[in-house]
Amino acid sequence: MSREELEELAWRWREMARSLANRAGEDSSTSSRPPSSDDPYRRQERGKPNAAEVAADPSETALGKAGNAGKNKSGKSAGKQPGAKGHWRCQPIVVSAEVEHAPQACAACRSALGPERERRCVSAHNSLELVRADMALQVTATRHGYFALRCPCGHDNVERPRVGLSSSIEGRKRNLAMSERCLVGPMLAAFIAALSLRCRLSRRKIQEFLADWLDLELGVATIERCIHEFGLASEPVVEQLIEDIRAAEIVHLDETPWYQKGSLRWMWVATTALATVFQIGSRRKEELTALIGEAFLGWLVTDGYLAYRDHPRRQRCLAHLIRKGLALAEGYYDGGYGFGRDLVRDLRRLIERVHDGEGGDTPAVNRLMARIKGNCQRNRDGVEKKVRELAGEILNDWTAVVAFVFDPTLPPTNNDAERALRHAVIARRISFGTRTDEGSRFYAAALSVIDTCRKRGVETWSYAACLIADARAGLPSINIPTRAVA
Ligand SMILES: [Zn+2]
Repeated sequence: MSREELEELAWRWREMARSLANRAGEDSSTSSRPPSSDDPYRRQERGKPNAAEVAADPSETALGKAGNAGKNKSGKSAGKQPGAKGHWRCQPIVVSAEVEHAPQACAACRSALGPERERRCVSAHNSLELVRADMALQVTATRHGYFALRCPCGHDNVERPRVGLSSSIEGRKRNLAMSERCLVGPMLAAFIAALSLRCRLSRRKIQEFLADWLDLELGVATIERCIHEFGLASEPVVEQLIEDIRAAEIVHLDETPWYQKGSLRWMWVATTALATVFQIGSRRKEELTALIGEAFLGWLVTDGYLAYRDHPRRQRCLAHLIRKGLALAEGYYDGGYGFGRDLVRDLRRLIERVHDGEGGDTPAVNRLMARIKGNCQRNRDGVEKKVRELAGEILNDWTAVVAFVFDPTLPPTNNDAERALRHAVIARRISFGTRTDEGSRFYAAALSVIDTCRKRGVETWSYAACLIADARAGLPSINIPTRAVA
């Protein structure tokens, strides 16, 4: 090459490297990429003033920052501001039925109190309920009256709406307390929860939907309350589901980034053939222990995340390894091309062979495993970093990579857990996560109940309505029935 040609070539390469480097460094704040494509670990720094600016402004002390926690950019907390004009229902409720709640027997002498006795109404409330019929949805209003009766023995018996579960947070003006005295009936509350959790509609969109299609005016706070009531009612059921998971033979585990008020959390999922439990927390190992317990004896199917590593009975997800192998085979890795191609081919063949019932100690399967191992050993000290890493990863975790060969019940991939997380990942992209610890807890509990109901073939929303009704009445919750799955 002449000097000019060489200079021209060097110049072209420099330009190419520059444009690639620039593109690699782009994120949602510097390009038209969506925020969901940003690195979850760096997302928290986005929008914050950089260190130099903070240092230049001495008034910004650590104390001042803590005082602003919980406020957004405008300095106001979310929701209605103090002194703002309130909203009231302007839609009159047309009552179509009345239900009377009167004491049936005297609390002091246990004698029966018939309807012929003189009684007085002590309280009443209206309740809107969704009635489901074949191919029909209707909202009806019922007036619930509560009565007091004086027994001949002199005891005053008063019937009141029952009070159930509650969730209190220190310093909160209004805590969540479930009670039968409620404008929204259990089935309507379950319907609202379904619109939010299953259809992923925002509170405002639910409000719009109910007004447009059912001619029902509800405030955003009432809608929010229904969704939270379902979450709170789900929590006792999830405790039982965690027991089910811990007793299972095979558990799939996975985790995905989650945001709580913009800060990075992790959503964990543990799923078996008959139960799914979600949990939102840190990515530490304690979260894993909280899910499957210290003494889990079954098999875990996981990806390569380190927190899973010290469990003795584990199947590594081969789909992850195949994807990494494909990246080597299709990318610009000089020495990696052959390694990636052979690895992908052999792993797929191994899965097929075992799937066709050729597990264990057959010569063909043994040859295949020896070839995968040999391929990794030859490339363990390869030139390319990615090649070295993938080869080392497989060799270091060899027993977990091939565990499914010796136990035909083990699935070779973690698709079940990844599928369970898909719904939450889409919700995260729409809603940007949850905002409080309580909200995260309720969201995870509600999702666990919905997913498990679907898995067990139980009609989710009738069950949810029962759950809400029992939790409002202070009755113990009924666990999700286990039916034979077709
Ligand atoms: Zn009495």
